[in-house]
Amino acid sequence: MTQQFDVVIVGGGMVGAVAACALARGGIKVALLETHEPPRSWPGEPADTRVSALTKATQNILEMLDAWPGMVERGVCPYRDMRVWDASGHGELHFDCAGTPFPQLGYLVENRVTVAALWEVLAGLPGAVAVVPAKVVAMTLTESAREIELDDGRRLQAELVIAADGRDSKLRTMAGIGVTGWDYGQTSIVASVTTRQSHRFTAWQRFLPEGPLAFLPLHNGQCSIVWTLSTETANANLELSDEAFLVALTEASGGILGDMLAVGRRAGFPLRFQYANHYIAERFALVGDAAHAMHPLAGQGANAGFLDAAALAELLIAAQRGQRPLSSPKLLRQYERWRKGDNLAMMAGMDLLNKTYRLDSPLAVSLRSTGMNWVNHAEWVKSWFNHYAMGLRGDLPQLAKARPCW
Ligand SMILES: Cc1cc2nc3c(=O)[nH]c(=O)nc-3n(C[C@H](O)[C@H](O)[C@H](O)COP(=O)(O)OP(=O)(O)OC[C@H]3O[C@@H](n4cnc5c(N)ncnc54)[C@H](O)[C@@H]3O)c2cc1C
Repeated sequence: MTQQFDVVIVGGGMVGAVAACALARGGIKVALLETHEPPRSWPGEPADTRVSALTKATQNILEMLDAWPGMVERGVCPYRDMRVWDASGHGELHFDCAGTPFPQLGYLVENRVTVAALWEVLAGLPGAVAVVPAKVVAMTLTESAREIELDDGRRLQAELVIAADGRDSKLRTMAGIGVTGWDYGQTSIVASVTTRQSHRFTAWQRFLPEGPLAFLPLHNGQCSIVWTLSTETANANLELSDEAFLVALTEASGGILGDMLAVGRRAGFPLRFQYANHYIAERFALVGDAAHAMHPLAGQGANAGFLDAAALAELLIAAQRGQRPLSSPKLLRQYERWRKGDNLAMMAGMDLLNKTYRLDSPLAVSLRSTGMNWVNHAEWVKSWFNHYAMGLRGDLPQLAKARPCW
């Protein structure tokens, strides 16, 4: 038997789960497909390797969806300051929340916390169904729907399919959408570390010739590191013993948090710049990393994905209310116009920053330092950066402005 839904979302990571919660809150009958059931709790386990800096705009979305209390209960860490400095020169930047109306610049949250809280909300929403484990083997277009076939023979039909299945999206390929991009030749090592000195609720980022090293504060007092290096060096560092890794990390940190005392499980993420050539096809839309994968140096990938999900949900809920079709080409084009330009601008900005910090000629280092120090003393520029980093910019969806869209 084929199950019928208004919308099927493939991929129940952070972005797919936000889309599902928002649509279900708006009265749309939605199925969320995921390969595995996400854990809801992990008693006694160390912090996860995957952590994201979440902006104020993202917090607004998660609050509007009632997921935020479940996240706070599991552990979130505010960061009030951000310090960025250049290992090759004397440039440095300092942002703090004093110049904003909020007591923090954002929050550091383990990805599993965000996913668990969203899935918990979803379980209580009428009209939402989680289909796990689900492995999509085919997607076809009928006259009035998209049909998804799972490896166990189950079939689901929907007026619209949303792919939130990540950077290597299979659904994107099935829909015939190509990508443009390149490998950065860099890999980010992520891990939780214990540092001699307290993180002081500050996000630290040191730019080194091979890429940035970030120390991000965690609620358990540790720091989550994102250490971006050439892929060759990163692979060699992933192979080091814990002791040798800690020595190398202490040196790379410039001693900013004292000696590194302990490190948890390490993982490497090869980086790509990649965007989908189209965000939409007939009865089909992409959100999150399936649509765009960006350099993590400013921690904006998931935040951009949440805005995609909130924007698309807002358009779909309005269409449903106005008894208009959910898959009209006009609506889908509106979604693509709304999000694609914003995401491309963000990705280009990250790419430019990454390239700028990898230049090591004396002239480049000197210009960079001068630029950073100028920004650091220009209050209006800093204030603009603060708002940008907090996600409070551009044409935001209602949920990101802490307003309901249902
Ligand atoms: C080192 C690093 C640091 C980062 N730091 C930050 C940060 O600080 N802030 C930030 O905003 N972003 C950050 N990002 C980016 C962020 O991690 C991603 O943008 C985000 O995880 C994308 O979420 P997503 O839900 O789109 O995709 P994913 O997290 O990739 O989730 C995709 C989901 O789809 C499921 N799936 C895949 N295929 C199928 C299928 N066929 N059927 C069913 N389910 C399927 C997967 O199991 C998964 O759960 C960072 C990225 C990296 C690599």
